[in-house]
Amino acid sequence: MPTAFISHPDTLLHVMDGHHPESPARISAIKDRLMAAHIYDYLQHHDAPAATDEQLERVHDREYVRRIRNLAPPAGIVHLDQDTAMGPMTLTAIQHAAGAVTLGVDLVMTGKARSAFCCVRPPGHHAGRAHAGGFCIFNNVAVGVAHAMAVYGIQRAAIIDFDVHHGDGTEDIFRDNPKVMLCSTFQSPLYPFRGEDSRTERIINVPLPSGTDGKQFRAVVEKEFAPALDEFAPELIFISAGFDAHLDDPLGGMRLVRDDYIWVTEFVMDVAQRHAQGRIVSSLEGGYDLTSLADAAAAHVRTLSGL
Ligand SMILES: [Zn+2]
Repeated sequence: MPTAFISHPDTLLHVMDGHHPESPARISAIKDRLMAAHIYDYLQHHDAPAATDEQLERVHDREYVRRIRNLAPPAGIVHLDQDTAMGPMTLTAIQHAAGAVTLGVDLVMTGKARSAFCCVRPPGHHAGRAHAGGFCIFNNVAVGVAHAMAVYGIQRAAIIDFDVHHGDGTEDIFRDNPKVMLCSTFQSPLYPFRGEDSRTERIINVPLPSGTDGKQFRAVVEKEFAPALDEFAPELIFISAGFDAHLDDPLGGMRLVRDDYIWVTEFVMDVAQRHAQGRIVSSLEGGYDLTSLADAAAAHVRTLSGL
């Protein structure tokens, strides 16, 4: 069965300040690399739908969704925090980014694809129930998880987040939900400066020091994530696929390389095979060096697709 590749032209239209690292070029770099590596044509392509308010409000406060809708400026830029802003096309971009993950869920749950990669922006894992932050406005993966539960009756979903930053928004949304396990490796101390001491049985936070390399990363994933995931036995697995723990990324200080992203993708595929009928929905989070982002993301997608 193929791997779905879900994106939308509007995700290229969300633009913050001129030199913001979270730029439309990130999406183009990944697509270009998939084409150059002859992977693109083997994927099952879909345009993302826009997430509905009903889908967004499963994880975000209704008032927050309304506020974001009303803040969207007809021209210029409105800042939500120091490094997160909305322009005229941001609303459609964030609706389609979240909608991509709901479509990914639909495709894998109905057996039309084995796995899905949502090549969308802005990222989502810093967006909480009622707050934006860290380039994120709606929590794309969380919207997908809630969709899987509401529409397909999923009782246990796991999220693997290997972005260099802690997925504090995802933790905020699912902290008290016994149906969700979050497994998150992240550099600490680093933005958002949370997650260090909030580990529970289902929030498997693993802070790692700057300089952590692939060998150390793989060891903690095996030791901390594998037993927790096997005990939880998720029916569906999501990946918050951030590639900013890469050695060449300008925002983080970790030292992962392409082989580590292949390894962690295979790790998740093994868990999915054991518990979730192989079902994986992965969504792009961070990754700000265009060359290493494209390289690592293409390796991730190639591995997911079994090519
Ligand atoms: Zn990040």
